[in-house]
Amino acid sequence: MTASVALAITWLSLAAAPASTSRAYEPRREQAALPYDLLLRLTGLHALPAIAAEDPGQLYRSAGLFSPGLSGPLDRILAAERAASKPQTETRTLKVGDGDTMVRMLQQAGVSTEDAAAVIDAIKPLYSPRNIRTGQTFQAIFGTADTPPDNATGAQAAQSSQDDDSDRRLLSLSFAPSIDHQITVHLTVPDGYLAEDVERKLQTHYQHVGATIDSSLYLAATQAGIPASVVVEIIRMFSYEVDFQRDVHPGDDFEVFFNRYFTAEGQPVKVGDILAASMTLSGRKHLLYRFEQGGEAEYFDVNGQSAKAMLMKTPVDGARISSGFGQRHHPILGYTRMHKGIDFAVPSGTPVMAAGDGTIAFAGSGGEYGNLVVIKHGNNYATAYGHLSRFAPGMRTGARVHQGDVVAYSGMTGLATGPHLHYEIRVNNSQVNPLTVKVASGRKLEGEDLKAFFAERGHLETLEASLPVEHRLAQATGLRETRD
Ligand SMILES: [Zn+2]
Repeated sequence: MTASVALAITWLSLAAAPASTSRAYEPRREQAALPYDLLLRLTGLHALPAIAAEDPGQLYRSAGLFSPGLSGPLDRILAAERAASKPQTETRTLKVGDGDTMVRMLQQAGVSTEDAAAVIDAIKPLYSPRNIRTGQTFQAIFGTADTPPDNATGAQAAQSSQDDDSDRRLLSLSFAPSIDHQITVHLTVPDGYLAEDVERKLQTHYQHVGATIDSSLYLAATQAGIPASVVVEIIRMFSYEVDFQRDVHPGDDFEVFFNRYFTAEGQPVKVGDILAASMTLSGRKHLLYRFEQGGEAEYFDVNGQSAKAMLMKTPVDGARISSGFGQRHHPILGYTRMHKGIDFAVPSGTPVMAAGDGTIAFAGSGGEYGNLVVIKHGNNYATAYGHLSRFAPGMRTGARVHQGDVVAYSGMTGLATGPHLHYEIRVNNSQVNPLTVKVASGRKLEGEDLKAFFAERGHLETLEASLPVEHRLAQATGLRETRD
């Protein structure tokens, strides 16, 4: 229909001028009628068959006095097309602006105060309007309240297109508070707004992907179509036993078995959990399995030994060590002294994680360290993080932290020549080399727990074996999916 709509509009603009100014001027009538006839023949468009049979005068009159009140076939056709080109209902995407409330967003979109309040009341039992976030989007349909948006026929549309725009109301508002829920508020006359929450059916698919590392794990993984969030998780789960700086070499490989959620239309919407993963480094295979107990999931090796050590060796993601532990010539002081930690080259603003569970013993300005965080862990261990640009919210002396929590952001405050994280592990108040210190390992499953783990491990291995490993290459279309 698009072609004929455009055609009708082109023609109407030609016809409009002579019709309103010089109705009696015959030659111009001919001029006005001809282009349309000509256009129809030129384009071979047969969508409007009634026109050929019409008396040219009638054709012209109808067009010139363009009004839905007239009853000629052309009028009906044109009215329907006019309605199609200016739809009865209007769908708009509303976006939450900075500091907007839901009421304000609706009012800015032209919803009346009463309707906005009624919409909010309808939504409240399902979703707190206070939870809206800047940038969140809502699909709104506006139209006249008496015509349902779905079944407006051409005739009805033509009829109500006479209605003034002031009759327009919000007919429905729809949004997804989470990936698998869709809340829709409908205007039902005369009851007002009613909200419903529909759970979207997501399909879960297991993916079993492997890749060989040529330069970096991250690059190999993303080229194999593994989502970025999965890569970060792989690094995190192996970070206790694998030193990504020194242990990973070209030719090493890894496999990951994870699930992914898709909409009924096949769009990937979210990544589920990594169920199992392995890394083969210099011929030695490290395997980890996900095991859930009392709602808490953790990764264990084949024997039920937790992958978690008490302290992480690298409290920042994707870091390169720029200065190791030991004697060095200090770039600012100009003389040789002991470097009592390790430096990780990371851009300013990189999240710094608590290396282990503990309590913040210090968070503030620490002289040469610049902004400094010190965390006390068990067994007389402590960790320190220097040259920070800022602290994460709530990170004050006395605050409890869990391993992996973001405590601060890296920077170059204090005695630093460039942005980096200075990281120390202290045992009984003296600094030790984080790369070589033996830290207590995590728990080992025993008894019934171990039996349950072995059962789960067997289940995962069977699932994995049923899916051949995809060794996908860089040209795989999966590359585009890394956004999730
Ligand atoms: Zn340092």
